[in-house]
Amino acid sequence: MNQPSVIVIGGGFGGLTTAALLARHHYDVTLFEASNEWGGCAGKFTHKPYLFPVGATLGLGLQQPDGIHYRVFNQLGEPLPKHESLETIMQVHAPSFTLPLYSSREKHIDTLCRLFPSSAAGIRSLYRYIFQVGEEMRKLIHHLPVLPMQKPADFIRSVRALRPGILGAVRWLAASTEDVLRHFRLQDTEVHQYIDGQLLDSLQTSSRHAPALLGLYALDLYHQGASYVYGGLYRMAEQLKKAGERHGASMQKRRRIQAVEKNDNGTWTAIDHRDRKTHADHLVLNIPVQSALPLFHPKERKQFTRRWHTKSETPIWSTFSMYGVCEPSEPPAALFHQLLWDQKLPGISSHLFYSLSAPDDRTRAPEGERTFTVSTHTPPEYWEDLSLYEDRKSAATRALTEKIQEAGLPVQPERVLPGAPHAWERYIKRPRGMVGGFPQTRKHTFFHPLSHRSPLENVWFCGDSIFPGASTMAVTMSGIHVFESISGQSFAALERQQ
Ligand SMILES: Cc1cc2nc3c(=O)[nH]c(=O)nc-3n(C[C@H](O)[C@H](O)[C@H](O)COP(=O)(O)OP(=O)(O)OC[C@H]3O[C@@H](n4cnc5c(N)ncnc54)[C@H](O)[C@@H]3O)c2cc1C
Repeated sequence: MNQPSVIVIGGGFGGLTTAALLARHHYDVTLFEASNEWGGCAGKFTHKPYLFPVGATLGLGLQQPDGIHYRVFNQLGEPLPKHESLETIMQVHAPSFTLPLYSSREKHIDTLCRLFPSSAAGIRSLYRYIFQVGEEMRKLIHHLPVLPMQKPADFIRSVRALRPGILGAVRWLAASTEDVLRHFRLQDTEVHQYIDGQLLDSLQTSSRHAPALLGLYALDLYHQGASYVYGGLYRMAEQLKKAGERHGASMQKRRRIQAVEKNDNGTWTAIDHRDRKTHADHLVLNIPVQSALPLFHPKERKQFTRRWHTKSETPIWSTFSMYGVCEPSEPPAALFHQLLWDQKLPGISSHLFYSLSAPDDRTRAPEGERTFTVSTHTPPEYWEDLSLYEDRKSAATRALTEKIQEAGLPVQPERVLPGAPHAWERYIKRPRGMVGGFPQTRKHTFFHPLSHRSPLENVWFCGDSIFPGASTMAVTMSGIHVFESISGQSFAALERQQ
């Protein structure tokens, strides 16, 4: 019997994961990617002889045996691309302190206590608690819980995954991460500032708005292992694409889908920018909900509930990025750096993330040179007035370059290319350059995210507007959920059979 056919729209991590897994299980898969690159926000661009990751740079979820990417690659029978575990995940530079964030949990606590001796008792108690909750959350997440829980099977899976250790943390279910800091008497300290910086990077929001359990999990995440992937995370995306093709999927670049239509027999048609039509039983949208709903005919769009429409109209952060080449005479010890500052720069958040290529990474730059990617949050409305756009872009580039120089990191101002929100709109097809999914506030997480199941039959969603926690890991989870729903197979059961 012929297996059902599936169209996947969007070749980011979410779509590539779904496509490769379905192809591996004999589905007839066609994936359409609008741009010329694989990996979307975790993709790359080249400016010969240099290569720059466009957005995501830090490899999470690659560690054995729990890392979600490790598990997917294992299931596909595919090796992970060359990567190196980081002992120092990043260096954090704040106005009043510089802090190496070590992968080792004990070393991290000791470093924090040395740096902030007056808060040492609170730091020790807080971090012991973070690591304890982190471990319990990790066990829970290993079972790939479906959020929001909608079907009896979702509840059963979550209940089965619950371990007694997590029960003590249930009292924080309605609390914010800031409440936990207050409990440990660390509110309004420099530790609080440091934690806010970490959460802004991982959850797109501060401790005040981040739910406690998610915040604690995010603070433990780096200590579960982080990696430098040679070339960049795009190597993983390209490998997923190859795995899909090896299992028979058709992976097509430069095919922008402009409309999707429901056929009388219940199948779906995707129509690309040249009016080419492709038909399939299932439709998977791995694009942000803001760009997905407009693809549907008004008749189908009406069937999406108010929650879908509200979310599709909710503005989220955009990003301002910079790409540079440097020849550092005294390279910094760490490859990844987070810079925090107190005073807001016009239109730019008060932090940036700087990622330098490894000295021996010849995919990114010739011998003696390195490339780096910088990103920060910016509100999309700041970039709407096109008459101010170029001036604002130059001002932001100058201001961020100064911050990088102040932190003593390599940068050559004449060798920096900016990437403002409209560039993100053009290359990654993100409306108004909005990236990173919804900020992980209580409004968008646990019981309130959008489901991978849409209100339309055989239409599924994955990507960073779906499963909470924006990262390649979270979108991969959503991709697995779509695979499970279409195939009726449990990913964990397949792992056990391997
Ligand atoms: C600046 C920045 C830094 C980040 N840093 C990290 C990090 O260090 N580590 C980490 O794990 N995560 C990081 N993230 C988050 C991570 O990159 C994203 O969560 C993840 O890559 C999103 O994947 P996705 O598949 O949901 O969407 P995308 O990556 O956006 O993929 C969607 C794809 O769909 C294509 N597309 C859009 N519309 C259409 C259409 N109509 N037809 C066909 N194709 C279409 C796009 O071209 C794109 O390739 C970062 C994100 C950003 C923006």
